[in-house]
Amino acid sequence: MVTSVQPAGHGPATGGDGLDPAALADAQSLPGRPFEADCDFLSPNRNLAPVTTRLDGEDRLMVGGCRLSDLARIYGTPLYVLDEASLRAACRAYRQALETVYPGPSLALYASKANSSLAITALVASEGLGLDAVSAGELLTALQGGMPAERIVLHGNNKSREELELAVTRGITVVVDNWHDLELLAQVAPGVGRPVRLMLRFTPGIECHTHEYIRTGHLDSKFGFDPDQLESVLRHLADCPWALLDGLHAHIGSQIFELEPHRDLAGVMADALALARSLGHPCRDLNVGGGLGIRYIATDDPPSIQDWVRTVATAVAEACTTRGLELPRLLCEPGRSLVAPAGVTLYAIGSRKAIPDLRTYISVDGGMSDNPRPITYQSQYTALLADRPLAPAEEAVTVAGKHCESGDVLLRDVSLPAAHAGEVLAVFATGAYNASMSSNYNRIPRPAAVLVHDGIADLVQRREQPEDLLRFDVLPVRLGPVQ
Ligand code: PLP
Repeated sequence: MVTSVQPAGHGPATGGDGLDPAALADAQSLPGRPFEADCDFLSPNRNLAPVTTRLDGEDRLMVGGCRLSDLARIYGTPLYVLDEASLRAACRAYRQALETVYPGPSLALYASKANSSLAITALVASEGLGLDAVSAGELLTALQGGMPAERIVLHGNNKSREELELAVTRGITVVVDNWHDLELLAQVAPGVGRPVRLMLRFTPGIECHTHEYIRTGHLDSKFGFDPDQLESVLRHLADCPWALLDGLHAHIGSQIFELEPHRDLAGVMADALALARSLGHPCRDLNVGGGLGIRYIATDDPPSIQDWVRTVATAVAEACTTRGLELPRLLCEPGRSLVAPAGVTLYAIGSRKAIPDLRTYISVDGGMSDNPRPITYQSQYTALLADRPLAPAEEAVTVAGKHCESGDVLLRDVSLPAAHAGEVLAVFATGAYNASMSSNYNRIPRPAAVLVHDGIADLVQRREQPEDLLRFDVLPVRLGPVQ
């Protein structure tokens, strides 16, 4: 099993920790970036490709100092590639912007639903971030990846008793979502021997879609307490000796390009904070959730991490100051904007079907099982041939997956050079909600994942094998022996 390779002849793309400014500036001036000569190195969510993307001497794509087609050959396809420099740059952008702009304490928590693994946990922990988890699986990954328990919060609209037990015994903050959480906590928390640290999630009446948002009194959402219930739940918690209500939480949506909704959110949350503190809760934390969008296609123009943090932090500080509130610790929970821009998925191109006067399909060796976003949300992506990224577009094609589903299409009507079977296609911005939402539909094994950095590729997720998919099957004896 190859777990770490340095493909021959590949020099580092960046120096040291992958963020050496001189090396990055140098990479920027290389004739090699196939697009985005104006790459935003400080806010990776504004780029289509990872910040270390460049071309080698023969105009082939490299990321993190590794030639993509070499990675495909060594590790097979489909392959998730994660660029360490992009991931670290995004972590630092959140952390540094919070420290610079917000006058109080702050902490960015990585929303690990976006992509949960030991390696990513270790990396974000080393950058000083915390983490939000929504299940026992994500919690275990966080703990084993080295995230300190005091920097983890547990979310979820239907947490199990076991998940709550795991959290409270390990000193992890629980984000209370509903009355059912409180009933279960009342059973498991008193046994811990100290008050358990809680945050309270409520729906703020701000609903976001990618390019628009609305303010309403009530939201049709399965998450969090309705604003009307806030006071009664706060009063209830004031009478629970096992509970330490130390924060409030709200999250307004994902892939958001507007800043205005977050400005509004600050006011709504500061009102709730004033109420909670007036009822005796310390509520030292205010968690504004995640949601910053990223660039999937050339026309996407999301705000930078720095602008998002400046807006949020200024609005929270102002809203608290106006209400005479001591500044809370400001928490946020970015997922997509931290990890999506670091990801590239490599596929091998296979069959082709040209339907005259209608459409040409080319098929790849993955699809909706490794990236369910196009079939689920009609999401769009950007792709290039790994070894011919500068070749002129010759045809409009639809890139289909290999699953037995007509809607299994990864890219619809995109322009590409005429691609041959066996060529490697690189699809960008796949670091979030791809691996974590992957499935084994059609019993197709999940891809491997590698972390690339300074010309080294480390295996961080082994490729599943077809036999692995049988490991939980049980064949009752009366149905006959396995042949
Ligand atoms: N926090 C909560 C509670 C969420 O539900 C989500 C995702 O929907 C996030 C954080 C992360 O959002 P994003 O990936 O858009 O930053």
